[in-house]
Amino acid sequence: MGDGPTDAKIILLGEGPGFNEDLQGKPFVGAAGKTLNELLQLAGLKREEVYITNAVRCRPPENRDPADDEIETCSIYLQQQVGLMKPKLVVALGRIAARALLGRHVSVGREHGSIIECTYAGVGFKLFLTYHPAAAIYSGRTKQELQADFLKLKQILKTIT
Ligand code: URA
Repeated sequence: MGDGPTDAKIILLGEGPGFNEDLQGKPFVGAAGKTLNELLQLAGLKREEVYITNAVRCRPPENRDPADDEIETCSIYLQQQVGLMKPKLVVALGRIAARALLGRHVSVGREHGSIIECTYAGVGFKLFLTYHPAAAIYSGRTKQELQADFLKLKQILKTIT
């Protein structure tokens, strides 16, 4: 379902479990998780103080993107988590996570690094858009952009009570 304290004020939302996550039953424990841990450090966050979860809860076969109906089917879990936790900030890691929350297509290349006031499951919070950490494994440029986004996030966190 997720990893971290359920009274966390910050939720990080990924796409869906990969091979290692499927085995361990925890989000972001594989290669993308290693990158995410480094990014969290840049933002001055400890992994243990944020709640990490995914838009879909089952591993899509062959690592394909989750389909819209799969995101929709799993949204019941995300709605309950957001409804119960009432986060102040949600970080959408990549376009699938952003789409799950905003219900529209998101161009992460255009919108990353920005904050959007979002209401989801009746809860209002700030939504920070950035790339999926796995994108940094394949592109040095995206890695730099992710690092810049998480440094920006560090500043944003100072304004969130
Ligand atoms: N990618 C995701 O989107 N989520 C995970 O939990 C792992 C990899």
